[in-house]
Amino acid sequence: MCVFCKIAKKEIPTEFLYEDDLTVAFRDIHPIAPVHVLVIPKKHIESVANITEVDERLMGRLILTAKKIADDLKISKEGYKLLIRVGEYGGQEVPHIHLHLIGGARLSEDIKPI
Ligand code: AMP
Repeated sequence: MCVFCKIAKKEIPTEFLYEDDLTVAFRDIHPIAPVHVLVIPKKHIESVANITEVDERLMGRLILTAKKIADDLKISKEGYKLLIRVGEYGGQEVPHIHLHLIGGARLSEDIKPI
């Protein structure tokens, strides 16, 4: 089982900022900004490259969950970044879809070729 499945199933104790029937959210272990939260589907899907039409509602829920958390953490007015890395060139390290919610400070543009 992958590390994010273990977190979702509470096999690795992790404080959830949010949980519903489809998603859970928790703080990134290596934050790159004052707010750095990961929103993941409870269902194991390796990457966006693996989603199908069946996952349309789930992928929408990930964004709605991130928006709710941004509102709760009061970073919506100033703005934030949502990021999903896909595969090797996208820099994805954990093979379970996760949406990064990054904010709480003005963010630099960091999407550039190596
Ligand atoms: P990515 O590079 O998009 O695959 O992002 C993976 C993210 O997961 C990184 O920002 C890691 O810091 C984070 N991460 C890995 N393991 C954990 C964990 N056990 N709890 C919280 N965040 C984690």
